[in-house]
Amino acid sequence: PKYVYLFGNGKADGDGSMKALLGGKGANLAEMARIGLPVPPGFTITTEVCTYYYAHKKTYPKDLEPQVKAGMAHIEKIMGTKFGDTRALPLLVSVRSGARDSMPGMMDTILNLGLNDQTVEALARATNNERFAWDCYRRFVQMYGDVVMGVQKRSGDDHEPFEQVIHQLKKERYGQDIDDTKLTVDDLKELVNRFKALIKERTGGKEFPQDPWKQLWGAIGAVFGSWMNDRAIVYRRKYNIPHDWGTAVNVQAMVYGNTGERSGSGVAFTRNPANGEKEFYGEFLINAQGEDVVAGIRTPLPVVELKKVLPEAYKELERIRNILEKHFKDVQDFEFTIQDGKVFMLQTRNGKRTALAALKFSIDMVKEKLIDWKTAILRNPADQFDQLLAPVFDAKAEKAAEVIATGLPAGPGAASGRIYLSWERAVAAAQKGEKVLLVRNETTPEDLRGMIAAEGILTAKGGVSSHAALVARQMGKVCVCGAGALQLDYEARTLTVNGRVFKEGDWLSINGTLGNVYAGQIPTAPSEIVQVLIQKTLDPKASKTYQMFKTLMDWCSKVTRLEVRTNADTPEQTENALAFGATGIGLCRTEHMFFEGNRIDAMREMILAETVEERKKALAKLLPYQKQDFIGIFKALRGYPATIRFLDPPLHEFLPHEEAAQEDLAAKMGVPVEKIRQRVKELHEFNPMLGFRGCRLGIVYPEISEMQARAVFEAAAEVQKQGIKVRPEIMIPLVGFKKELDLQVEVVHRVAAEVMKETGVKIQYLVGTMIEVPRGALTADEIAQTAQFFSFGTNDLTQTCLGMSRDDSATFLPTYTELEIVKRNPFATIDQTGVGQLMQIAVEKGRKTRPDIKLGICGEHGGDPDSVKFCHRIGLTYVSCSPFRVPVARLAAAQAAL
Ligand code: PEP
Ligand code: MG
Repeated sequence: PKYVYLFGNGKADGDGSMKALLGGKGANLAEMARIGLPVPPGFTITTEVCTYYYAHKKTYPKDLEPQVKAGMAHIEKIMGTKFGDTRALPLLVSVRSGARDSMPGMMDTILNLGLNDQTVEALARATNNERFAWDCYRRFVQMYGDVVMGVQKRSGDDHEPFEQVIHQLKKERYGQDIDDTKLTVDDLKELVNRFKALIKERTGGKEFPQDPWKQLWGAIGAVFGSWMNDRAIVYRRKYNIPHDWGTAVNVQAMVYGNTGERSGSGVAFTRNPANGEKEFYGEFLINAQGEDVVAGIRTPLPVVELKKVLPEAYKELERIRNILEKHFKDVQDFEFTIQDGKVFMLQTRNGKRTALAALKFSIDMVKEKLIDWKTAILRNPADQFDQLLAPVFDAKAEKAAEVIATGLPAGPGAASGRIYLSWERAVAAAQKGEKVLLVRNETTPEDLRGMIAAEGILTAKGGVSSHAALVARQMGKVCVCGAGALQLDYEARTLTVNGRVFKEGDWLSINGTLGNVYAGQIPTAPSEIVQVLIQKTLDPKASKTYQMFKTLMDWCSKVTRLEVRTNADTPEQTENALAFGATGIGLCRTEHMFFEGNRIDAMREMILAETVEERKKALAKLLPYQKQDFIGIFKALRGYPATIRFLDPPLHEFLPHEEAAQEDLAAKMGVPVEKIRQRVKELHEFNPMLGFRGCRLGIVYPEISEMQARAVFEAAAEVQKQGIKVRPEIMIPLVGFKKELDLQVEVVHRVAAEVMKETGVKIQYLVGTMIEVPRGALTADEIAQTAQFFSFGTNDLTQTCLGMSRDDSATFLPTYTELEIVKRNPFATIDQTGVGQLMQIAVEKGRKTRPDIKLGICGEHGGDPDSVKFCHRIGLTYVSCSPFRVPVARLAAAQAAL
């Protein structure tokens, strides 16, 4: 089998479509070579080798070695140099990871491979640049020692061990910290010696290998090994990248950005990935290798500055920028090296972007005719779309706030939080419910967990393309980078700015759109879209973001088959959801209405009632409240349908459980407290979620359903009289037997007929059921004889299908996710193979009985993009979700239809 794919000299074995096999980096290197961009020659070892490696105790297939040899010969031929040459210019290579989806900074890279005590001399002679040669060598020993030989920070170390050695040497020789570029040849030689000694000391006597081939295999093994390192696993879990994809390994001829002042390295985006503007965006360092730029140790310059420093190279980069966008038809994030004025491309990929940038790119590219509007819909990741609705600072409060430092705007939005200087403490504080800002000198991939936990990230060093900044943007975290005025003391856990000291736990605020850092806490305000649509405090014409949002949503409506409804229990929630484009209520939980004010008293009276008469008396008090609620909701709906669910939770939830509260209630109702205690005792259940709830309530106490039905129809009649159409859909919960539904439907029809007769108003309504227990799904054909619609209650259906309590799964689910027993949290994303199968059975059986049956979902999954796509595939009519998730669901629904 072919394990090695070559590229270089305008040709390649692979191409851009082969990401599964060659990884994203390998596939695009091949593609760039094919379209004639300046790519140093190299080869890619396929992801299949990675899979083999893990399936066979970390060994390689036997065909691999000769293919790697041939690959090296291919590079040697194009470069005209030899690997390990001790006389003429030696060939050096880089060895890099490259998974199918890019995982920035999560896996390992080794540069300048092939150097040893002899080849370094040859490199110095051939380039007539001794400093350059030794700079490469010390970098190589450092990276190799870290990545391949495992000499890394131990707990208790303040710094990376190699950085510590550099720091020590600078102190000894210069008495202060100097820039790395100021180190002399002699300094660099000394560093190489000390690095070798450090490696030996830290690895129990192992030597840094001098044989280039040994180096190469060591590096290849390390890259495959890094697929399973801690942070890569955490990253994959967060982004749902399967562990069995594996990584490819790219071996490529080195070009050098560190040969002097006419060389450099950089990272650039063809457009601004933070705000979406069409401007060349990125940064570079003169006389540096690529790792310097992304590691965030030196703060780089904006790429446009290159125009002044190396105008020819800048022109070439602009040319490449254009070719990339025309060819890939998407915004590219690319790495380049300039060697003595000549530009080389080391990588390109679709740039990670914020939700705002994704929106702007997609709309602009349609205008530019690079893509069509359907592609534009797909270019907006549904799972980050809610960033657009994320809050910003209150404008007045921000203006009044004190700017203590500024940095680079690396991730837009507004965040306030208590500062923490380590990811561990940030995570711990967030778990206690604190709002947290993670503050670091430079953020490294190890900080990932802290970043996930934090509201925002603030760093003293590093640029907008440092790994952490990329990751923050993708997560939608607010991020300010390279705020140079911050002095961090990790030991004292303090942050000092111009003499002013902030301790851990103090409040700071950051604006990731402007790059400002503020003292104290600033109130946040809703996004522009929310201001336009919900608060109506902003003129739609004044917000470009809103305009783009609307364009996209309109495109979505053109292709969507799945309707999006909302879960709402108040007129306000209903209006919000309609403003976001919902077309009705998919779930109105009527019990929420009984918790307010006097209603809870009447509700309690009803529960304490001992006879039907008493119960009816209490219910009669509830009726007007409930009717008023429905009137409000029906009006807010302006003719859209409303699925109203009858009472569902166990009754004990409405009674007070504490002694004092019970006494209060007794006094208020004029009954002995003993009576209340007794009723609470009677209603106590070991397993309330499987107890006296759902339709069981209405079956034992039909007068409850009767009251609810009356409230619905009287309200409907009244609103309809005012000229607003009302379309109630009454929904009976927790049905597992057809007979349960029959009994409840009988009540509904009877009351409907009564009210229509009394009021003389004809009301069009439906009666249906929730499918939320397995028996309901399995007997859906029988149930559909009565039910005019089904709505999947996937919260309970998940709970009952998996036998996992929706309230008590937090104790073990994290372990289950870790062990990959479940891939995703089944209460957030539908378990398609289990719960999804029950749904499919119900859809099929329901349709068999009643071909035109209306099918929806109203569990929390209705706002989860992957679940929405699943609902589309199994042919549901609508999904229903909370108001602020409506836009996400609309986008996911449109994407599912494409
Ligand atoms: C459900 O079970 O999915 C549902 C929507 O009902 P509730 O969450 O109110 O039990
Ligand atoms: Mg339910």
